[in-house]
Amino acid sequence: MVNVVHDPVKLVKMTDIAQNLESIRQRIAAAAQTAKRDASRIQLVAVSKLKTAEDVRAAYEGGQKDFGENRVQEAKAKFLPLREAYPDLRLHLIGPLQTNKVEDALRLFDVIETLDRPRLATECAKGIQKIGRSPEFYIEVNIGEEHQKAGIAPSMLEDFLAFCTTGCGLNVTGLMAIPPQHENPHPYFQQVYELATRHGLPHISMGMSGDFEQAIAAGSTEIRIGTAIFGARS
Ligand SMILES: *Cc1c(COP(=O)(O)O)cnc(C)c1O
Repeated sequence: MVNVVHDPVKLVKMTDIAQNLESIRQRIAAAAQTAKRDASRIQLVAVSKLKTAEDVRAAYEGGQKDFGENRVQEAKAKFLPLREAYPDLRLHLIGPLQTNKVEDALRLFDVIETLDRPRLATECAKGIQKIGRSPEFYIEVNIGEEHQKAGIAPSMLEDFLAFCTTGCGLNVTGLMAIPPQHENPHPYFQQVYELATRHGLPHISMGMSGDFEQAIAAGSTEIRIGTAIFGARS
């Protein structure tokens, strides 16, 4: 009897998530066309933080392969079984990484987008040596130079990038940034794009549910969408 009550609910939810994904894909295509860009070069990362494994499954069934989580422990509990079921699923860490969680993160994630301090870079290098698995890394840039926010100041990026690559041997392939809230994000997105281009970094992770079209206009190659796919987080 439980199933009889439960199944229709699940079905509705799956349809919602699949439909939301489809509508985001259409908006990405439209934004890319406006910007005269190739939509296939813009990757959608579905941010499933605080959402269930069922929600992730629904998105995967709807064709979504890349997911983002902001906490290592939550991601581990949710995604270890999912990774077994879906070997082509890719997982991105988009929240702050504490040095005591580095090994877990190196084992679990395909991309760590929040490399933001030298100590973390050296711990990641050590961990990679030890466990023999290396994800890709993006450097988080504090593009608005906000004191409460994580990330490397734009003026420090060149030195920090050299430290991470030449110094630590990390595979740094991109930048990630979140512009200040309640401000026009466009100039910030443009600055991130210029920084990534200047340093030859192909991946530019910027844009969320509320501003991804502007991010695409400014050259984003990866948008991180939570709410517009999975609904509001409680
Ligand atoms: C939560 C989160 C997102 C997704 O935000 P939405 O507004 O729900 O799309 C994107 N990036 C980071 C770093 C986040 O923490």
